[in-house]
Amino acid sequence: SNEKRFHVEQLSVLGELAAGIAHEIRNPLTSLKGFLQLMKNNDASNVTYTNIMLSEIERINSIVGELLLLAKPKKFNMKRNNVIPILDSVLTILDTQASLHNVQIKLSFDHHKEPLYLLSDENKLKQVFINILKNSIEAMPHGGIIEIKLKKEHSFACFSFIDQGSGMSSEKLAHLGNSFYTTKSEGTGLGLMMCKHIISEHQGELMIESEEDRGTNVSITFPYHKKA
Ligand code: ADP
Ligand code: MG
Repeated sequence: SNEKRFHVEQLSVLGELAAGIAHEIRNPLTSLKGFLQLMKNNDASNVTYTNIMLSEIERINSIVGELLLLAKPKKFNMKRNNVIPILDSVLTILDTQASLHNVQIKLSFDHHKEPLYLLSDENKLKQVFINILKNSIEAMPHGGIIEIKLKKEHSFACFSFIDQGSGMSSEKLAHLGNSFYTTKSEGTGLGLMMCKHIISEHQGELMIESEEDRGTNVSITFPYHKKA
């Protein structure tokens, strides 16, 4: 089997982190661009305007790419959060994109849906979940199922994101530690780096297992305190 485990090491320099913010701005820009392109195809009457808007979006894209490389990252705002509604809200955000790609996201819990509290920064956690799920959606051009499994152990909470996408060869997996590594024409290679940083700020661990043409399992383990 081509399966390989890749253990993501500790981060990372400030410049890399700042660059990650650019990635976060590019995600919504990409969706704006997509819908504008749809509008343009459906209705030719405003083609001059939509073309200008498209090229302006492209300009924002390249400007944030350069400027935010220099920006300073925001501090983490750690609170005792129930992660279940956080996960639910992420699924709502990604709903449209997933169904556009014929992707179904399934959630399963080992402890029903009882609250799971983690000392965490809600928005950063959302970023992590969104980046991982987006990668899975992008890896399944013909659709499929993404399974999210949530397990509670004595001292750990484990999230697994399992997709049926293109997967990665061992060579590709080995590149995942490098920032700016991407195989996508519009990719930045900053998503996983951002995830690594956020997860390590939560004392968590990121583990990626993948098999080419079969799929990928991204799992995150956080320390869990029953009486957090
Ligand atoms: P980007 O998505 O902008 O390319 P990421 O850091 O999110 O940057 O991912 C880096 C690369 O890792 C991707 O370009 C892709 O080749 C690979 N990758 C990440 N997640 C998956 C996945 N679930 N399935 C297959 N390949 C993946
Ligand atoms: Mg990505």
